[in-house]
Amino acid sequence: MNSIKAISADALAWLDAQRLPPSPSNYRLAYSYHDGEHPELVKAVRAIVDDGVRITQAETDTLHERWLGAVTTESAKRADEARTAAIRHQALGLAELAASATATTGEFGRELERSIPELAEEGSASMQELFARTLERTQRAERELAATTAQVQQLREKLEAVQGDAERDALTGLPNRRGIDAYLGADARREAAHVFAICDIDRFKSYNDRYGHAVGDRVLKTVAASLQETLADHFVGRWGGEEFIIIARTDVSDGVKLVEAAKTALGERHFKLRETDEPMGKITFSAGVVPLPVQAAEHEAAFAAADALLYQAKEAGRDRVFGG
Ligand code: GH3
Ligand code: MG
Ligand code: MG
Repeated sequence: MNSIKAISADALAWLDAQRLPPSPSNYRLAYSYHDGEHPELVKAVRAIVDDGVRITQAETDTLHERWLGAVTTESAKRADEARTAAIRHQALGLAELAASATATTGEFGRELERSIPELAEEGSASMQELFARTLERTQRAERELAATTAQVQQLREKLEAVQGDAERDALTGLPNRRGIDAYLGADARREAAHVFAICDIDRFKSYNDRYGHAVGDRVLKTVAASLQETLADHFVGRWGGEEFIIIARTDVSDGVKLVEAAKTALGERHFKLRETDEPMGKITFSAGVVPLPVQAAEHEAAFAAADALLYQAKEAGRDRVFGG
């Protein structure tokens, strides 16, 4: 009978000959093959390698799954992540499509509405009737599209939820809306003055449009990492899409300085496209900073106020932080 040491040496040498990395799951399979623990497994491996053909990683994984249980190899994990990203990007594409269709339909409806008074003066009765019907249909389409947008949003949230930690965003690892709510609900936030900031990446859609969603995702991850690094003593969360929030124990004027410093640090990073080394330009964001009310019931109003300041910052030319 072979000793454990001899079997493991054989197993490692065999993996080497097969050009397979000695990962835990590959080693386990190789060991089992040399140990003869599962005669069926030995037979299956022999059927592949007996003619001098090397066994592939995929075949190894399949055999492992069959006789030794599920494997979570790096490649399996990466394939899993790629599949999830593909589904997420599909949902994102749908949301973008629905949003742009809603905007177009809404605009068409408003144009129709504007021309109805003119038509009442000049047009025939049947023409007026046609216009009224078209307007009604357009408005219905607009409502339906808005409902679709909401459904797609729910789908995205569910997708996030099944991906693991319900309070963390799977892409950036930051607390998601739920995690933020949990943090805001904790007693500590009621004891001292805090500020709440919403940061929205400037012209983020253009990264998606120019380079695709995968690059957009990488921008989001980098922004998240940069904020986390510069604001290590404070709370950073992903509010949704390309919006992040910061909660810090300070007043508004220092809060604005803090967020501005984070913006500067982000701006100093040099983003390049991995494939071509093409520089992607400076990434900036705009932000609104408000005092965080002690009462949870007043939070909604504070979020709206921060959002209004953010909107003003965008209107004023972006890449700036407004406090109020
Ligand atoms: P503004 O300066 O006015 O903020 O312009 P913007 O382009 O940043 O804003 P807009 O709201 O038009 O675009 C946000 C885009 O973010 C649209 C949406 O599809 C995209 N997005 C949301 N979530 C994700 C995500 O998880 N990954 C990627 N790649 N894109 C996302
Ligand atoms: Mg936004
Ligand atoms: Mg934006």
